[in-house]
Amino acid sequence: MGKDYYEILGVSRNASKEEIKRAYRKLAKRYHPDLNPENREEAEEKFKEISEAYEVLMDDEKRAIYDRYGEDGLKGRVFGQGGFSWNDFTHFSDLNDIFQGFDEFLRNIFGFSYGSERHRGRDISARVSISLNEVVTGTEREVRVKTHLTCPVCHGTGASPGSRPRTCPACGGTGQRRKVHQMGPVQFVSVSTCDVCHGKGVIIDKPCSECRGTGFVLGEKTYRVSIPPGMEDGGVIKLSGKGEPSPDGGPPGDLYVHVSVDMPDWVWREGLDLHTRIKIPYPVAVLGGEVEIRTLEGLEKLKIPPGTESGSTFVLKGKGLPPKGGGKRKNMVVHIEIEVPKKLSKRGRELVMELGKELNAETKNRWFSR
Ligand SMILES: [Zn+2]
Ligand SMILES: [Zn+2]
Repeated sequence: MGKDYYEILGVSRNASKEEIKRAYRKLAKRYHPDLNPENREEAEEKFKEISEAYEVLMDDEKRAIYDRYGEDGLKGRVFGQGGFSWNDFTHFSDLNDIFQGFDEFLRNIFGFSYGSERHRGRDISARVSISLNEVVTGTEREVRVKTHLTCPVCHGTGASPGSRPRTCPACGGTGQRRKVHQMGPVQFVSVSTCDVCHGKGVIIDKPCSECRGTGFVLGEKTYRVSIPPGMEDGGVIKLSGKGEPSPDGGPPGDLYVHVSVDMPDWVWREGLDLHTRIKIPYPVAVLGGEVEIRTLEGLEKLKIPPGTESGSTFVLKGKGLPPKGGGKRKNMVVHIEIEVPKKLSKRGRELVMELGKELNAETKNRWFSR
């Protein structure tokens, strides 16, 4: 038995090709899966079935075999042993006419490699710099990039205003040419890029003068990029899909934003810790005291214990940087240097000499015994 192609298309057994075409056109529009989102799978199945019927009934030879032997007669003779597959469909240009171009669904069912044949747009990059305080809080920046934009004159068609690109007659708009080679009972299908339209699927007779037929002009775009707390110097933020558009309908490239952190000269960074150096007067080192330390939040008091040596370090907890994305801040490490006066007044000199003598006595010639 098998399928009744006439019934599937709703035409009589002696329908003309015109009638079959009309019936197929109507049903293809009804069963295109994109128009049936609720029962997509069913629609896909049905779409394939009417296309199978169309393939057979539009071809005198296939139709004759079918009329004589039914669906089974086509298996292994016209189609593969498993019956009709999309590889057997030869009326791309009809579908292309019905739907005014190939959409992703149609490309997929015919095995046109949508992603790989089409080219991804180029990646682009931009630079921003942020302050150390912005590393703590996180921030936002606007970045302006030079990129290709859809041509405002032809709206991306590449055809001069008033004209339209026409479907490539050589490939029916698919951008690809399929050749079917019959070797005995076996069919081979080879697919290659259409050499008439160079894979574009359309032919532009009068190119747009603004974009010279490319559909794109060079312009600028502005994006807001949000920079998380804890950003490292030289870190990169990727904005997916914000790169150059694809020249041929593929996916766009990405935008990479390189972030540099402006470091003030009083501080340096080791991982998430901040480090700073402070010179304290000799008497403070000896006797102890309080000094002011510069932090990202302003000045902070730090107690210096008596007998602090040059090179000692103190830690201000929570005055460093947060981990990437935010969280508990690390520390600021304060490195102590003891200030040695270069110029002394007469009285100052006397006092230091006096001190020297005192210390000399106490330290048993450690300083002056050479
Ligand atoms: Zn244009
Ligand atoms: Zn073509």
